[in-house]
Amino acid sequence: MEKRPFNELGLSSEVLKAVDKLGFEEASPIQTAVIPPLLEGRDVVGQSATGSGKTAAFAIPAIEAINPKLKRVQVLILCPTRELAVQVAEEVNKLASFKRGIMEVPIYGGQPYDRQIRALKAGSQIVIGTPGRVMDHMERGTLRLDDLRMVILDECDRMLDMGFRDDIETVMAGTPPGRQSLFFSATMPPAIRGLIKRYTHDPVEVRIKAHAKNAPRVEQVYFEVQRRAKVEALTRLIDRYDFRHGIVFCSTKIMVDELDEQLHARGYQTDRLHGDISQAQRNRVTEKFKRKGFEFLIATDVAARGLDIDDLEVVFNFDLPNDAEDYTHRIGRTGRAGKSGQAFTFVSNREIYKLQAMIRHGRLKIHRGRIPSIDEIEEAREDQFFEKLRTTLETGEFARQDRLIDRLLEQGFASTDISAALIHLMHGGVKEPAVEPTPHATGQGRGKPGDREAPQFRDKPQQPAFDRPGRTGREQGFVTLFFNVGRKHAAKPGDIVGKIAGVTRLPAQIVGAIDLKQRHSLVDVSEQYADDVLQKLAGVRMRGVTLQPVPAQEAG
Ligand code: ADP
Ligand code: MG
Repeated sequence: MEKRPFNELGLSSEVLKAVDKLGFEEASPIQTAVIPPLLEGRDVVGQSATGSGKTAAFAIPAIEAINPKLKRVQVLILCPTRELAVQVAEEVNKLASFKRGIMEVPIYGGQPYDRQIRALKAGSQIVIGTPGRVMDHMERGTLRLDDLRMVILDECDRMLDMGFRDDIETVMAGTPPGRQSLFFSATMPPAIRGLIKRYTHDPVEVRIKAHAKNAPRVEQVYFEVQRRAKVEALTRLIDRYDFRHGIVFCSTKIMVDELDEQLHARGYQTDRLHGDISQAQRNRVTEKFKRKGFEFLIATDVAARGLDIDDLEVVFNFDLPNDAEDYTHRIGRTGRAGKSGQAFTFVSNREIYKLQAMIRHGRLKIHRGRIPSIDEIEEAREDQFFEKLRTTLETGEFARQDRLIDRLLEQGFASTDISAALIHLMHGGVKEPAVEPTPHATGQGRGKPGDREAPQFRDKPQQPAFDRPGRTGREQGFVTLFFNVGRKHAAKPGDIVGKIAGVTRLPAQIVGAIDLKQRHSLVDVSEQYADDVLQKLAGVRMRGVTLQPVPAQEAG
């Protein structure tokens, strides 16, 4: 697939500067193919997969076509949803940032008319809108298209799917005959063919084959994991690869909420998106995620649809997607624009058959993987730390501490001992005093999720629980603890496990059966760690309750 540097495409220096500032190294295949004919004034039909850079492919020529002195609408971009309209407007804004006198405005349903009318009156030359709202403004006379030079239909297939056909026809009929027409779509169903025939003149048709982008460097792995071990598996994988930016897909809103809470309790920075969350809040979460304001976005398919986020290190399918198409859609968010990414999928019990069917039908390449053991994670952490230390030493990017070190050397300490002691301190390696469980000493030993930078030097469970079959009933080696939180407080077993694991930084498998009562719960905990749990959970807040766990036989 042909790609060319942007500076060979005949662009203005302002746009080249903007592209450079966005960090694009070269034009993607669809951009390479459509920008030159668009600059010549031709009509274009462009078909390429999601994530292939269609926005810039039409936005760049649109910006170049604008006469900045003329304060009238010159380019109209139709998008299926308001999210997309806003995203496209943002990209247009960035690409036009070095050109003076160009204004764009997104207009979509749900936003007050007066604000949009003000932006239109102020002389915006590029309007990005959903078909229905654009049509409304045309009818009201608040959007005039007499000076329109270019009309662009983005995600044409989706607009038709969403029933915008008539609106599109109405809008198109209101555009002047001399304008350029651009159709962009990931697929080209016959209905679009009809529109293209009617509204374009001798178009240049470009089709970029999907597999060029579907061969992105996404490593795809699946793991067979018991349902109750999924959270532990997830955190182990995150820790093992030191992921900092990814999406975790769940199948239900409830699962999204639960997982968000559990990961949060374990010290990961997360936020969530699903259909019950208000649009304003969704926008905030999306923006924050884009800025890398938190690490992991927990989302349902629906909420994540149309979300333009690339740069992801990893996509987790915490729950299996419905079909191969959803799967491909989900993992398409990593490994974009030539970067490598990873896609990890969990299957429990009989779901393996469903996955196998998906692999067959969708011709997917997903390998089987094994959840790393705690030892492997510690080892990986050590490697990561070693790499960081080595890089810091090599680049010399640290303040010299000669005086402090000289003082230590003068006192007769060896340099190797000094370094080792420093690393020990960095890892929070202060020995904890052995304290008897004091359930009433609130505030003492108050748990805060540990910093995940710091490897925890602690005893390891004998056996990673993954290789064990699911546990039924009470097991040997477990003791029962009384927790003063129950159904009345809307506590769920998952919350309790998450809280314990999060605060103690021990694997969830040290928690066994949980018997949830009205005002309290009986929690089985591995004997070996019971004291640890009693001590660290005392005084911790959960569901509005200050926990005061005690051994169950003392709770009488
Ligand atoms: P599409 O509309 O085809 O689904 P987008 O236009 O949304 O794709 O682009 C997907 C991502 O790729 C965006 O984050 C965009 O900023 C980025 N991108 C676009 N063009 C390039 C390029 N030439 N080099 C690197 N990244 C690019
Ligand atoms: Mg797009």
